[in-house]
Amino acid sequence: MIYDILELGHPLLRNVAKPLPEDLIGSTLVKTLIADMIETMRATRGAGLAAPQIGESVRIFVVEVDNNPRYPYKPAIPLTVVINPDMTFETDDRFDNYEGCLSVPNLRGIVPRCPIIRVRGFDGNGEPLDRTIRGVSAGTFQHEFDHLDGMVFVDRVTDSKTLCTIDAFRTWYEDDVRRKVREIEAAYRSADSDYA
Ligand code: ZN
Repeated sequence: MIYDILELGHPLLRNVAKPLPEDLIGSTLVKTLIADMIETMRATRGAGLAAPQIGESVRIFVVEVDNNPRYPYKPAIPLTVVINPDMTFETDDRFDNYEGCLSVPNLRGIVPRCPIIRVRGFDGNGEPLDRTIRGVSAGTFQHEFDHLDGMVFVDRVTDSKTLCTIDAFRTWYEDDVRRKVREIEAAYRSADSDYA
């Protein structure tokens, strides 16, 4: 089932989502919710989707990037489901990530993100998950994790002059972003990345 995406201003987007009770991890109920999240993310061409964006205030998000027309310069990320995540920053480095959000229509802006993170939690089958994610994809995971804490990317935009519409992004910034993405990937990807 494809859900409507809650948009900026909806109070549920500002809730700190609750951990999914352990006895529900891997349950049919939660598997259905996750399948619906994946279907909704794909239908709306999102790079990720967090449960609060469809009105479910629990700590689950999904990410997937595969030739995404909304983000043609983004490196691929295989479909990943994360339940009750912990996230740690593995470097003090930060990079400028141009972000957009299904809950913030037609707006992009630069957010400083950590380029090497470790994510631990459970996958969609209830199996333990422990991934190190490097490069621009780490920004995608941080963006989705923020939704679980009631944050949206505009909260983290440090220079409001970087805010732009999607048309303006394509016209003025996308070529430069594509170049910078290649630099970030070259600097932080390595053989031990899960998404090399
Ligand atoms: Zn978002």
